[in-house]
Amino acid sequence: MPRVVVAGNWKMHKGPDETRAFFAALRPRTGAGRPQVLIFPPAVSLAAALAARPQGIELGVQNVHWEDAGAFTGEISAPLAHAAGADHTLVGHSERRQHCGESDADVARKAAAALRAGLTPMVCVGETLAERRAGRVEPVILRQLDAALEGLTGTAGDGRFHLAYEPVWAIGTGETATPADAEAAHGILRARLQERLGPAGAQVPILYGGSVKPENAGELMAAANVDGVLVGGASLDPADFAAIVDAAPSR
Ligand code: PEP
Repeated sequence: MPRVVVAGNWKMHKGPDETRAFFAALRPRTGAGRPQVLIFPPAVSLAAALAARPQGIELGVQNVHWEDAGAFTGEISAPLAHAAGADHTLVGHSERRQHCGESDADVARKAAAALRAGLTPMVCVGETLAERRAGRVEPVILRQLDAALEGLTGTAGDGRFHLAYEPVWAIGTGETATPADAEAAHGILRARLQERLGPAGAQVPILYGGSVKPENAGELMAAANVDGVLVGGASLDPADFAAIVDAAPSR
């Protein structure tokens, strides 16, 4: 079974001062069997997070460019993020697909760039409400996963990534998938990972994301194949985020 992972995506929130205050207040339960904990602050707060994080908390950026360097004003490459101290990066978050026009092919190129630079990519997939209502959950998430695997396989990094199932209709809306909905989607993704990667596919952590809160985190993480959670809004509050970390099962 993969290790449980609890990740916080701060989106466009928290500058350096708020970052230091967050980590000063964060008190999750630690020790053997506790989950891997990751925070994705805004890139401008990464240095503050590196200096202030409690031991054992890992950090990432929310996006990288697919090129390693070049004339891409305003962008951050994976090698630059790694040199600045990031160990992880989100790739293909639905907000970037929706607002920044990121395609499946872009996601594959970004995932490959992350692996090349020594970052662990966390690839996000998930259907819209219209796609769910049309009964298209499976083809949509498998299309997104297959495309991402083009960038994630065939390199030394095979199997070294996180996958997050984030139904778009559940992100920032207060609507949460039921544990059964999450388990159904995660089971589909797990089967495809094993088909494509063999035994390594059983070890890729699959996180659920979408309005996760202290009240629902435990039941979601109790579902088979839900190996953790990716938390947006509730990761901004250190007490809520610590409660979600504490709700993770010990493995
Ligand atoms: C997210 O940003 O990845 C997310 C799941 O947000 P929220 O928890 O606020 O729905």
